[in-house]
Amino acid sequence: MNFLSLGLNKKLVAAVSSLGYSEPTPIQVEAIPAILNHQDIMARAQTGTGKTAAFALPILHQLGENNAELNTQVISYRPIRALVLTPTRELAQQVHSSFENYGQNTSLQACIAYGGVSLNPQIKALKQGADILVATPGRLLDLMFKGMIKLDQLQVLVFDEADRMLDMGFSDEINRILKHVPSNRQTLLFSATFDQAIFDLSKTLLQSPTLIEV
Ligand code: AMP
Repeated sequence: MNFLSLGLNKKLVAAVSSLGYSEPTPIQVEAIPAILNHQDIMARAQTGTGKTAAFALPILHQLGENNAELNTQVISYRPIRALVLTPTRELAQQVHSSFENYGQNTSLQACIAYGGVSLNPQIKALKQGADILVATPGRLLDLMFKGMIKLDQLQVLVFDEADRMLDMGFSDEINRILKHVPSNRQTLLFSATFDQAIFDLSKTLLQSPTLIEV
């Protein structure tokens, strides 16, 4: 199995080759074709399994393909089409740099938003236009209520380390964010553990998900 045979475009395959990835990890083998096939997924995967590339690569592929369809005469701004929610700033930074590395041969832009630091640099970056946003829930809501972020064109929503998000008490924030995203989006949920709380969350988020466990 190689990255090209999973259905990814050559620009992305060249990027992962340049990073020294010779073959996809098990979660990548399962998740990438399912995501490219527009399915919702619920994946149990620990950090270190290659889970970030398992969602970042197919998202970059899909957004790259649809780039040409964006009618800039109708949409005068560059809309956020993929949102990755993470429980912590550190994970947001890792995921954001993964998108930058994997998307190095594309024109897609990834932005980041997390709390505990001043809003202005994040607002400035968002104003330049972002296709992909990686964010922690509280700061995302701050920016939404300030009118700096619109999610009405969202195509893909990712929950990374969903179990930690629930453990850290982000349920209310998640529910508030969900009110502002289109219901016909694709949703991808990653969690190190599956328990009743995750299954309950998955029922409100996912439609006929493909279950992946590695
Ligand atoms: P993650 O589970 O997303 O935190 O990734 C763990 C580490 O594995 C990161 O340092 C990635 O750069 C690396 N990685 C991801 N996919 C592959 C792959 N297919 N081959 C080699 N390394 C990889």
